[in-house]
Amino acid sequence: MPDAHPTPPPVWRLALPVPLPRLFDYRPPVGETAEPGDIGQRVRVTFGSRELVGIVAETGPADAETPELKHALARLDPEPVLQGELLESLQWLARYTHAPLGEVLATALPAALRRGDALPDTHTWAWQLTEAGQTARERLRSGKPRRLADRLQGGPCDEDMLDGEIEDWRSAARALAKRGLAERLAVPAVAHAPAPRPGPALNAEQQAAVEAILAARDGFAAMLLDGVTGSGKTEVYLHAIADCLARGRQALVLVPEIGLTPQTLARFRARLGVPVHALHSGLSDGERARTWTAFARGEARVAVGTRSAAFLPLPEAGLIVIDEEHDGSFKQLDGIRYHARDFALVRGKALGVPVLLGSATPSLESLRNAQMGRYSHLRLHQRAGQAQPPSVRVCDVRKRPLEAGLSPEMLETIGHALDADGQVLVFKNRRGYAPVLLCHDCGWSAQCQRCSTPLQGTPMTVHGGGRRLQCHHCGARRPAPNACPDCGGLALQPQGAGTERIEEVLTARFPDVPVLRIDRGTTQRRDALEQHLAKFGTQRGILVGTQMLAKGHDLPNLTLVAVVGVDEGLFSADFRAPEKLAQLLIQVAGRAGRAQRRGEVLLQTHHPGHPLLATLLTGGYHAFAEEELAQREMAGFPPFSHMAMFRAEAQQVETCDAFLRMAREALQQTQTPLDLHGPLPAPMPRRAGFQRMQLLLSAADRRSLHAALDGALPAIYAAPQARKVRWSLDVDPVDLY
Ligand code: ADP
Ligand code: ZN
Ligand code: ZN
Repeated sequence: MPDAHPTPPPVWRLALPVPLPRLFDYRPPVGETAEPGDIGQRVRVTFGSRELVGIVAETGPADAETPELKHALARLDPEPVLQGELLESLQWLARYTHAPLGEVLATALPAALRRGDALPDTHTWAWQLTEAGQTARERLRSGKPRRLADRLQGGPCDEDMLDGEIEDWRSAARALAKRGLAERLAVPAVAHAPAPRPGPALNAEQQAAVEAILAARDGFAAMLLDGVTGSGKTEVYLHAIADCLARGRQALVLVPEIGLTPQTLARFRARLGVPVHALHSGLSDGERARTWTAFARGEARVAVGTRSAAFLPLPEAGLIVIDEEHDGSFKQLDGIRYHARDFALVRGKALGVPVLLGSATPSLESLRNAQMGRYSHLRLHQRAGQAQPPSVRVCDVRKRPLEAGLSPEMLETIGHALDADGQVLVFKNRRGYAPVLLCHDCGWSAQCQRCSTPLQGTPMTVHGGGRRLQCHHCGARRPAPNACPDCGGLALQPQGAGTERIEEVLTARFPDVPVLRIDRGTTQRRDALEQHLAKFGTQRGILVGTQMLAKGHDLPNLTLVAVVGVDEGLFSADFRAPEKLAQLLIQVAGRAGRAQRRGEVLLQTHHPGHPLLATLLTGGYHAFAEEELAQREMAGFPPFSHMAMFRAEAQQVETCDAFLRMAREALQQTQTPLDLHGPLPAPMPRRAGFQRMQLLLSAADRRSLHAALDGALPAIYAAPQARKVRWSLDVDPVDLY
C-alpha cells in the first residue's frame, strides 16, 4: 500500500573535481536507482555549463532544501573503480590535507580514468588453431597461412610475438579464421617473464634485516632500513619482495624521480621472475591506466614507481617499500600536496602489511620515529661485497686562486685520478654557465623582470656559454646584452660558476679526456641520461653534474668525487637546509668507489671549520642527525611540532594580505593552541608577475593543528577575500623558505 508521504528515493552524493570542500547531490540517470553498491563508481554529470566525471562517495536521502535535483547523465562503470582500502585511505588523505575529496580522488586516478574513459583491457591477444585447424594443418598448401598454422601448432601465440616472427601474419590469420581453422583469444598480459636469477649470498646484517621483515610480514609494521650507500639495501628489498610473491601477494616499490632508471628496473626484472611494472611520468595515459587496472584486478604483482604510484590499488598487497625515503620528490608541491611516503605508511596500516623505508640518510622524521620505537630500526653498517667506504678530504680554498670555482689542488687531484685511469665526478648543484651576469663598471646585474622586485632581486642565470639569460624560477629567457643597460659599459662579466662553465674549464685543462655534462639542460628527455652514460662507459674521463647524478646509476669506475660549491647551502634560512645538504653530500660521496677500486671524495669549501661539515666528517650522518634533532627540538621545529602553510598569489600585495589576514582571524577564532606567523611576503615575493604571501601555522601536536584547520576552513572557503586570490593550503610543508 502506498505511503501517504513516500520517502523520496535515495540520491548519489558525488565527489566532483572542483575546488569546493563538499559533496554534490545528483539523482541517478532516469530509470536507475542509487544503491550503496554504487559507491566508488564513476558517473558523468553536468555541472554549471560543464560536464564532469565524479565518483559516488555516498548514497542517501536528498537534502530536503533542494527538491529539484538534476539527474546524472550516465553511470560509467558497472563496478566501482575505487573501493575498499584505497577509497578509505583516500578519504583519510582528503581529511588530512583538508582538500576537497573530489580533487583528491581525481588526483589518485590515472588521467584516462579521470576523463571518463572505460576501464582498459588488461589482456593481450593471442591466436591458436581450432580443432579443425589441428587436423587440417598438414593438408594446407605451403604459403603464409601454412607458415602461421605451423607456428601455432605448439599452442597459442601472442600477437606481439607474431609481429616479430612472421611478416604479414595478420592476413594469414584472417584467412585461417575465415575457414574456421584458427581463432583469436584474450590472454592475461602478465604471462611472460624470464626465470628469476639468484643474487649474491646475503651478508649477516642483510640476513638479519630480511629475517626481521619476514617475521613481521603478517601485519602492519613500519621498518627503517638504515644502511650506508652500497650496503645492499636493494638486495634486502628483493628478498622481501620474493617472499611476498611466493605468498601470492602484490608488492609496491616507491622510488624517487631520478631513481627509476632502466638499470633499476632491469635488476628487479632479472631477479624476480615476474613482470615488473614501471610507473613514472614518461608513460602514456593508456599505459598508465592499463597498469593501474591490472593491479586493481589483481593480475599484476610488482610495481616500481615514483610518487603517484602511492595511489595504486593493491587488493592483494603483501609489502610496500619506499627507497630513498628521505627524498624530496615524494612530496607533491602543488595541487593535492601529499607526501607519498606518509601516505604509503597510512595505506600499509590499513592494508595490514609491512612498510619498509630505506635510506643511507634517513629523514629526521623517520629517525625520530625509529628512536621513539614507532619504527623498527634495521641497520646495515658496511658496504656489501668487496667495496670499501671512500676516504673524504676537505680542501680549504680560502685565498686560493679559483678557476670557474675550482682550486689548483682540486684540479691537481682530478689530474691524478685521470692518470690512474679513473673516472671523476665533479658535482656542482647549479646548472647553467654562471649564476649572475654583473657589470664590473657600475654594479648592474641581470634580473628577471617577472620575478624581481626593487627590494628583492632574482638574478637570471647565464647560459649558452654567456649568450643567453634564463630565469630558473619562471623560465623567462632573453639574449644576454652586449653592453650594460645602465652605464653602456662593456665590462659585463659572468659571476660564479655553473656546470656549463666548469665543463668549459675542465675541457680546456684536460683536452685528452672526454668531459660529459649531465644536468637538466643537457638531459631533458628521460632516456637521455641513460644514453649519455652508456656512451661514456667506463673509460677515463670527467662527468660534470648536478644532483641528477647524485644517485641511481652505478658508475663502477668512479674513483674521485669532487664537490664544489657547498658553501651556498651552509647559510640558508630554511631550517631543513642543513638536513638536505648533509643528505646530498653523503649521497654524492656514496657514488665513489662502488666496486673494486677505493674511492676518494674531495670537498672544496671556504668554511672548513663549519660545524655541519666537521660533524659530518668525523661522526658521519647519524652524528649530524642527532645534533640536528637536538637543535630542532630546542627551536620547536618539526618533527617536534607540526606545521601547515597558507599561500596566496595575486596581482596586488594588498589582495594577498587581506586574504591571509582573514584566514588568520578565522584560525584564531577556533581558540586552538597555535602559533601563527604572518601574513609575510613569500621567500620569492614576486614570481612570474604575481605577488606572493604566506601564513605559517605551527602547533605542538597534530591534533590541535587539524582542529584549527577544521574549524576555520569553512569560513575561509566562503570568505569574499578568497575569490580574489589563488590560494592553497599545505599540511606538513617541506619548503618554508
Ligand atoms: P644499496 O641499495 O644499499 O645502495 P645495493 O643493493 O645496490 O646497495 O648493493 C650495492 C652493490 O653491492 C650492488 O652491486 C650489489 O649487487 C652488491 N651486493 C649487495 N649485497 C651483496 C652481497 N651480500 N654480496 C656481494 N655483493 C652484494
Ligand atoms: Zn654598468
Ligand atoms: Zn622569473
